[in-house]
Parts: sequence; C-alpha cells; structure tokens
Amino acid sequence: MNEAGDRPGALRFAIIGAGMAGILSAVKLKERGLTDFTVFEKADRVGGTWRENTYPGLSCDVPSHLYSYSFAPTPEWSHRYSAGEEIQAYFERVAHEHGITDAIRFGDEVASCRFVDGRWHLETARGHRDEVDVVIAATGVLHHPRFPDFDGIDDFEGAVFHSSRWDHDVQLDGARIGIVGTGSTAVQMTSALVNRAGRLSLFQRTAQWIMPAENPRYSDDEKAAFRSSPEQLAELRTNLTQMFDVFANAIVDADSPEMKMIAEMCLENLESNVRDPELREALRPDYQAACKRLIVSPDFYEAIQQPNAELVTDRIERIEPAGVRTADGRLHELDVLVLATGFKTDAFMRPMTVVGRDGGTLAQAWAVRPNAYMSVSIPGFPNFFMLNGPNGPVGNFSLIEVAELQFAYIMKLVEPIRSGDYREVSASREAMEDHEAARVKAAEKTVWVTGCRSWYLDDRGIPATWPWSFDRFRTEMQRPSAEAFEYR
Ligand code: NAP
Repeated sequence: MNEAGDRPGALRFAIIGAGMAGILSAVKLKERGLTDFTVFEKADRVGGTWRENTYPGLSCDVPSHLYSYSFAPTPEWSHRYSAGEEIQAYFERVAHEHGITDAIRFGDEVASCRFVDGRWHLETARGHRDEVDVVIAATGVLHHPRFPDFDGIDDFEGAVFHSSRWDHDVQLDGARIGIVGTGSTAVQMTSALVNRAGRLSLFQRTAQWIMPAENPRYSDDEKAAFRSSPEQLAELRTNLTQMFDVFANAIVDADSPEMKMIAEMCLENLESNVRDPELREALRPDYQAACKRLIVSPDFYEAIQQPNAELVTDRIERIEPAGVRTADGRLHELDVLVLATGFKTDAFMRPMTVVGRDGGTLAQAWAVRPNAYMSVSIPGFPNFFMLNGPNGPVGNFSLIEVAELQFAYIMKLVEPIRSGDYREVSASREAMEDHEAARVKAAEKTVWVTGCRSWYLDDRGIPATWPWSFDRFRTEMQRPSAEAFEYR
C-alpha cells in the first residue's frame, strides 16, 4: 500500500450546489456509505434552477416521469409536464426523505477552492473554511442571467426584471406586460400571462419553431395504478426514455428521417394553428427546426392570437420611461417589462476562484472557453469533478439522467483514491484535446450548425454540446477510459 493508503475509505467530499445534481450527489454518496460530505448552497433552499425560476407558466418540457431521479420515481405527478412549483416540491421532498438536508450549509457561497498538498481547501463568502479530498461542482448551467444592454433601461418607470428573478410584488392582472425574447421561458410565460394581462406585447428578435405537445392531467385512477404497480411506472419511464432517445439521436444528424419528422410536426403546427397569414409569416422561422433549442408548447400559438396579445417584430431601439421604443418609431407603453433573454451559459461555477495543481487557475484554463474531458474532469484539477459541465448533453432531454450517469462515472474514477491506491486523478491534457477535436468534428453533422444563433453555440459557432447519440453517452459513462486519466 502506498503513502495514501493510510486513510482508505475516509474521503471527505464537498458538493457545490444543492440543485438537482447536488441533491443527487449527496443521496448517492450517502447510499455508498460515503457519509463525510458537506453540500455548500448559496441560497436558503434546495432546488437550483427550480428555486430560482418562479415565473408564471414555468414548467418542464421534459415529461415529469422522465424528469425525476431513477431512484425516486413518484406516482404523484399531476401532469405529463408538471409545473415548476411541483418540481421544486419534489426536489425538497427527495432531499428531506433521503436525510441529506442536515448536510447542507445554506446561505454560504463557495468563494474559492485551492488544491494544496493533495487536498482541496475551500473558503466561503462568509469566511468558513473546509478541507476535502474530492470536490463535486454541481453548480448548474442556466444560472447567470443574461441582461440585454438596452439604452434607457434604468429610466423605465414600470417594473423591469429578468425572468429568473421574478418580482412577485408586481401586479400583473390588467397590466400592460412586455416580454423580451421567444425562448422556452418567454413562450411558457406568454401562455400563462395572456389571460391576466390587459395587454401583452411579445418582442421577438427571432421566430421559433414550436413543437406541439398536449399536457394532460393524470387522473386519480392513473395515479392509483402507478401507486399499486411500480412496474407500470417503470414501463412508462422506459417508454418516455425511448421516445426521447429518438429526438436525441435526430438532432445529432441534421439529415435524419426523424429530424424531418420533427420539422414536419412543427411546420404543421404553424400552418394549421395560426389563422392570420401575416402573423403566421412573422412567426415562421427561417432556419431548420431544432437548430435552436426546440420549444415545446401546447398553447403558445393560441395565446399569441388572443385579441390583447401582440407580436412585435420591430427591433427594440431603446427603453423609455413609459415603455419600449421600437425601430419603426412606435412606443409600446408598458407597466411591466420582463427580460426573458436567457443565461450566460459559459459561466458554470465561475466566478468562484479555483486553483489546481501547480497553481494553475480555472480562469487560465478557461481563458478562451470552458472545456473538460467528457464534461467531467479538467486536466490539472485533480479530484475535482463537474456534473452538467461544459460540452455535455443539453438537448431537450432529462439533465437528471445525464447527471446520474456522470455521477456514477465519477465514482468509478474516485474508487482507486478511496481504496488508497492513489491520491489524485484528473483527465490528461492529451485526452481532453483529442476528445475536443473529435467533438468539434462530429458537431459538423448536427442540426445546431444549420444556420441559426443559439446559446448552444460557442464563440467559434461550434455547439458546446455532446454531438453524438445519447446511447454513446451512456456507453462512455459506463467505464472511464484508463488511458484518458492520470492517477498519481
Ligand atoms: P433563450 O433560449 O436563450 O432565449 C432568449 C431569448 O431572448 C431569445 O429569443 C433571444 O433572441 C432573446 N434575446 C436575447 N437578447 C436579446 C436582445 N438584446 N434583444 C432582443 N431579444 C433578445 O433563454 P430562455 O428562454 O430563458 O431559455 C434558456 C434555456 O432554459 C432553454 O433553452 C432551456 O434549455 C431552458 N429552459 C427549459 C425550460 C423547460 O421547460 N425545460 C423552460 C425554460 C427554459 P434570439 O433568439 O434572437 O437570440
């Protein structure tokens, strides 16, 4: 046994973030008997994105029976696509029932992680210090709001806020509401707000393809059947997984028949459900369906055709005290302006200071753009792993399954550290570079590069995503390649 062998099995872990992936990590560590961990959460509740986003109409466009942990299925989902509040309650319940809440340090953000003498030294914003063997960064992707730099925005006399920072004190009923953006967020919000607003103006820079999807409620009988038959619940999940695999495989092959089928469904939705030809043309995208993240909605077209709704396609020139002035000179008078303008998707755990082996910083490693081997490990940052890190699968499918697979992969990497055979593991630089070159090449075939602007694309216009099939991801996550990692 080498030097490290004096403490086999006694690893201490830090999990950063108590969102979906952080809760998962804590539950799974505990399940493995690795009970020496702390979860650091800057907010006062678990839930991550589901805690932060509370906008009207928030739901998840991945069916709830798929967007749940494999180890915590529930028969109780109210709808095929359940609402955000229900999802938040689910995460709170899982954390509570698995007894991990006491291991969460709430209200204290990790400010720095430094790798010194084989261990990670953490310091929080409140000055708390900790020393751990392994760090799992479960800090989320869609987390840092992207604010548009409209002239005059500070002069607006109404209420203005980002979609992920909803101001619940603002009166919405009868209000003149403006929404900037046409992403998943804006679309869900439009459907929810149009019947409450006096007038709703949707400021569209780019039209979006909309995939129709009914959102039926589960009846009491269906829920009772799920309760009495876990097999039926498991079968439903399997069916949903298979359905989503079709989509996941289609988007990485822009010319696939499945992709054509998705495009036809979106086109049919537009053609048959938007009655006014002028509005239909304004809503018609000029790029291939699913090039941007595909939007799923049962009722957006209905909502935007309500008499009190308006689709504004003229460019926003500036914000004035009374509302939004568009390039055609028109002033759209508003009481509330919601910026559904998306997120800085390349931030990950930044702005946290991370200093790896030999003093190399994350800021240096990611000076050009974020990168990691298999989106999990960064060369020079031993025993530091990410869930839903850079360039991972982020299509319209369950990030829970992604995180579960990545977590199991990380545990395999950590095993030789836990057994005492080694002290450190991280991906080799060569492995990361080879992986990146293959990823960039494979991305050429994907639908994301067929001619649109989207948050999937990095500064070079290359999708910052997994460009292969989801099955390949599952296979790769089964066993880390021995050559790709350096153990010391
Ligand atoms: P998004 O997809 O990035 O959309 C941002 C929107 O704001 C786009 O329409 C963009 O226009 C517009 N925009 C940005 N800056 C602008 C500016 N300066 N002037 C005018 N328009 C501007 O953001 P999101 O809707 O918040 O969604 C982000 C991601 O969150 C989604 O893709 C999805 O992954 C996730 N999400 C998921 C769900 C779900 O149900 N699972 C729900 C909501 C969000 P352009 O298109 O022209 O850039």
